[in-house]
Parts: sequence; structure tokens; C-alpha cells
Amino acid sequence: MEKTAFIQERTPTFVRDGKFHVKLTEGRFQNLRRLASWPLLAVFFGLVWIQLDGQPLLLFSFEQRRIILFGNALSWQDLPLLAGLLITGAFLLFFMAVAVGRVWCGFACPQSIWTWLFLRVEQITEGSAKERAKHERDSIAGRRLLRRVAKHLLWMLLALFTALTFTGYFMPIRDIVAGASSLQLPTYTTVWLAAMTGLTYLNAGLVREKICLHACPYSRFQTVMFDRDTLTVSYDARRGEPRANRRNADADSGDCVDCGLCVQVCPTGIDIRDGLQAACIDCAACVDACDQVMEKLDRPKGLVRFASEARLEGSTTRVVRPQLIGYGVVLACAMSAVVYGFANTSSLSVAIQRDRGALFTHLDEHTVCNNYRVKVEGVDDRSLLIQVSLSENGRFKLFGPAQIDLTTSNATWLPYRVCVRNPDFPRTSLTFNFESSDISTTKTTTFLATSI
Ligand code: SF4
Ligand code: SF4
Repeated sequence: MEKTAFIQERTPTFVRDGKFHVKLTEGRFQNLRRLASWPLLAVFFGLVWIQLDGQPLLLFSFEQRRIILFGNALSWQDLPLLAGLLITGAFLLFFMAVAVGRVWCGFACPQSIWTWLFLRVEQITEGSAKERAKHERDSIAGRRLLRRVAKHLLWMLLALFTALTFTGYFMPIRDIVAGASSLQLPTYTTVWLAAMTGLTYLNAGLVREKICLHACPYSRFQTVMFDRDTLTVSYDARRGEPRANRRNADADSGDCVDCGLCVQVCPTGIDIRDGLQAACIDCAACVDACDQVMEKLDRPKGLVRFASEARLEGSTTRVVRPQLIGYGVVLACAMSAVVYGFANTSSLSVAIQRDRGALFTHLDEHTVCNNYRVKVEGVDDRSLLIQVSLSENGRFKLFGPAQIDLTTSNATWLPYRVCVRNPDFPRTSLTFNFESSDISTTKTTTFLATSI
């Protein structure tokens, strides 16, 4: 009786005027998604408030032209390391795409996490998907109007918190909050915050799945990365077809009772039974929904499940395969390069420019000189006295400030001249040393003795 009631309760897909209402479901994969997304949200909203020795734990400061990564100050010249970090992240995504499809999209991508958050707020304020679809064409008045206003206000609040936190990774969050509470935020910060709030509200509240469908390049990449052994959410057509609802089912019918629940819970509005689609973000909501149906019908779960094409065709899934090994090797190399790069960063940032006016000058008949401009910056707030010298000190003579006091000359270009007597080379490399009591770094440039 209970099973029949469940099947008869079959609800239509909640689509009205091209807009669909996503039904929230429960199940092991939704629990897993929460297990992944709550810690990520806690890290995003919390990290920005944590300080170490009075410094933010993570800050990308355009104003101060420096990066603070978990207490380590990096200069703007270390930006390629961040690019390396992003490239490593991209290879990690490629590796995961080959192995387990788009689980990143379904379980950890900010677009998905914020969409689920906004969906939850919508359900709390305006009711379930069924209720929302039922009243879609009703005029908005009274209680419904209040609920709608409450939804949009909560969305705006959530978007504002997101924008504030995100901006806090580029400017100290305490300064932003203090500026906002005293209405003294700089205009550019106010405009930026308003734009970020609007974008978050639009993305997670209104545009949602359209970003995944039309704007995200990753969904396009994945189509070429998937192979027959990639695990992805799939419908077992061999088991489910021919689909038939309970009233029309006969001995030849498959396990799919065509209840449509897998479609109603899909945040991108697709039918997984149509096969692998670029719009599927592997969130596994349809897996949980279908498992509930199978459980109520006393049939084995897994009609919709994570499975490879090979597995669905009855073959064995190959875990180790050339494509996966290839991405794994590139990923390991990228990781090693980034770790090496971070291990070799210096607290001093040095830039040397050759004089563009003249390739070289003559001090006298036998002495050739090159002019340089040197800029030394400390990437943290310590006051340092830097000694400047040349590695090739015996042969070359250095003219210019032998010491740089960073408290007075930080980030200013200083003139230097290097001279050599009777050079027997057209050009050579020249290394400047910059040393203080506890930091040292070198910078190599070119010395030209002739114009050839
Ligand atoms: S088809 Fe299933 S796994 Fe794919 S996006 Fe829709 S609900 Fe998520
Ligand atoms: S695949 Fe499962 S959830 Fe989807 S229609 Fe068939 S029985 Fe229902």
C-alpha cells in the first residue's frame, strides 16, 4: 500500500514558463556533499579573520604589492608562483576529471556550493519545489509576497557577506569592516563590494545552472577528457529500460518506473536517462533520489550510480590507464616545481635595470662602465640594512650606495655604475649580492664591453 501510494504520488517535473524548481533531496551523496562544502565554507568565511603575528594569514595586497601566504610574505615578483599554483590546480582538476568525472563541480565548486545554499534559503522561505511550482502563476500578495521579499533579502545578505569576505583576501578585512561601519570606505572599495554582491546574488540566486551550462569552460574540457573508464553519474539503461510506470509495467519492463524524481532533483534540469551530458555536474542528487525510489520498491539500489561506460557495458573498469598516468606525471611535476619555488622565495625583492640610454660608457681610455638602476624591496615590515656587492668583486668595481636602508629607500630606484679595466670579452654576466644579517639574495644581469 505504501509503495503504491509512493508511485501514485508521482509528481510532474517542476517546470513552469521555462523556469524549473529544484527539489531538494537527501541521501548519502548529499551528506557527502555537505561534508565537503561546510568545511570549505568555514575556511572561506573564517580564514580571512585569522592573523599571525599581527599579519593576515592570507592576503593578496595590490596596494602594498605583496602576498602573504600562511604567514610568509612574498613579493609581487613571486606572482608566477601563484600562476604555478593555479596551473597545478588545473592539472589536479584534469586528473580528477579523467578518474572520477566532474565531482569537483558537484561537490566543491563555489558555483555549486553557493547555488545549494541559495536553494536551501529558497526552500526555507518559499516552501518546497512542489509548492513553489504550484503557486508560480498566482499573483504575489500577502504572505507569499512577504516570503518572496524575505528570500531576496536573505540572498542579498548572503551575497554581501560573500563579497565582504572575498574582498578581505585583497584588503585587510578589519579595515573594510571598520570603513563600512563608519561609512568611510573608499569609493573604489564600495563600488567593488556592490559589484561582487550583485554578481553573487545573480550567479547563485538567478542564473545558477546557466553558468555551468553556458559559461564554464570545464564542462567543455571534460567531454574530451572522459574515457570509457571514467567514473561518472550514469543511468544503467540495461537494467532500467524499457521504463514503465507501475500501472503499465509488465514482465518485460525494466526497473525504471518513470517517476521523474531524478529529473526533479537535478540542479541543471537534465534527465540523466538521456545519457552522459555536458550539463551534468556529477552532484549525485539523482543517485540519491533514485536510490530512495528503489528502496521503496524493494529493488536493488544503483539504477543511477557512479559507473564507467565500460562497467555499464559489462566489462571491467581499468583504474590505471595511460591518460591517467600522463596527467598524474604532469601533476607531480607541477607540484614539485611549485614546492621548489616556494621553498626558494626570498624576503627581499630585487629588480635591476640596465641604463637604456647607453649600452656602455668609458671612464677613461682603458675602463669600460655599465650603468644600472637597482630597486630593493623588503616583502615584510622589518627594517633592514642591506649590503650591496658584486660576486666578481676583484675584477669589477662597483660605484653606488654600498648599503641600502630599506626603511628610507624601500622601493626606490638607486643608481649604480660597474666598471672594468681592459675587458677581454664583448659581454659577460654580472651578479649583484644583497645581504643583511639574516637574509641574502643575488641577482644576475649582463655587462656589455662592446656594442657587438
Ligand atoms: S544528472 Fe544527476 S548528477 Fe548530473 S547534475 Fe543532474 S542531478 Fe547532478
Ligand atoms: S531513474 Fe529512478 S528516479 Fe529516475 S525516473 Fe527512473 S526510477 Fe525514477
